[in-house]
Amino acid sequence: PARGPRADAEVVVDLAAVRHNVRRLRELVWADAESPGEVMVVVKADGYGHGMAQVARAARQAGAGWLGVATPGEALALREAGDTGRLLCWLAAPGHDFAPLVAADVDCTAYSVAQLDEVVEGARSAGRPARLQLKLDTGLSRGGATRDHWLALVTGARHAEDEGTAVVTGLWSHLACSDEPDHPANAAQVAAFAEALALADDAGLRPEVRHLANSAGALLHPAARHDLVRLGIATYGVSPAPDVVTEAELGLLAAMTVRGRLVMAKELSADDGVSYGHTYVATGPERVGLVPLGYADGVPRHASSRAEVLVDGRRAPVRGRVCMDQFVVSVPEGEAGDEVLLLGPGTQGEPTANEWAAWSDTIGYEIVTRMGARTHGRAT
Ligand code: PLP
Repeated sequence: PARGPRADAEVVVDLAAVRHNVRRLRELVWADAESPGEVMVVVKADGYGHGMAQVARAARQAGAGWLGVATPGEALALREAGDTGRLLCWLAAPGHDFAPLVAADVDCTAYSVAQLDEVVEGARSAGRPARLQLKLDTGLSRGGATRDHWLALVTGARHAEDEGTAVVTGLWSHLACSDEPDHPANAAQVAAFAEALALADDAGLRPEVRHLANSAGALLHPAARHDLVRLGIATYGVSPAPDVVTEAELGLLAAMTVRGRLVMAKELSADDGVSYGHTYVATGPERVGLVPLGYADGVPRHASSRAEVLVDGRRAPVRGRVCMDQFVVSVPEGEAGDEVLLLGPGTQGEPTANEWAAWSDTIGYEIVTRMGARTHGRAT
């Protein structure tokens, strides 16, 4: 949904880059496989800040057989936007009415027998069997049935299949440390998942898809690929493990560019403090410019002392604290109206999402989801 265009700044989303990335990832993950699996593009959180519906369309055009979202509201919004393909949703609160999801042919995830009962209830109200996926917790200790409860969940799902209220379409889990290739949790989760699949097979479940891997899992852990990989961050052209492999090495293109214009430029004198708290004090005459974006636009305040942006093709360090709507940069030759590139693929020297992440002790995911939040994304 549009949040209102801004005259002074914009987030531009390159949907051709999204299409390129989906094709590139399909090739990276499945080109050498004997029986190539499928790709799910994860478009939750407004397409990681890139605009959910437009990313969904681009992903389908590039051959994504599946889309994935967290909330039921996101899944129904995709259906309203016209998406009719395979779509998985995985985060519903207790008491959720699953009937609209079942009616909309959305794959629903159950973490527990209690939730399975709610999905079955939804199927009864909708008058058709639910497409049901079961999620196991193999070691993230987040959502999903623990191993102790897996058999009960599988048995319950099998019963629902027998009575015609559900069709088990998928069995899945999620990795905890996939961006750290040598972490022992990866092999442990792959093994636990294999065990759980065998148990489900013994119980007679024959799902369409089994899946474990997110972007880093798909790229760095071939044993985690199974039938389907769930690709979020890599689709947007941001490396999921920048310390291990860069976007350029993967052949991915960052889809988001954030740009604005200097609102004003002026001269400071020695000892002038800049922005709240005067955390920066000019040591001599210094020309600075004002950028009309702040932490409410997703510019991390925590990055204040380390961040840089590109002004008229040159790196300009941030001076003082990032404020809610604006921040100050050092620009020896800056003028009001100069173009400011805050974020992009890096091809012109502008910072990338992972560079902002390093400046603010976070991950590229948090950078792009937040930067997209106030300034309306515009497709190119
Ligand atoms: N699968 C699940 C269950 C997720 O929650 C996410 C996002 O966090 C993904 C896949 C995609 O992860 P990534 O963006 O690391 O590819």
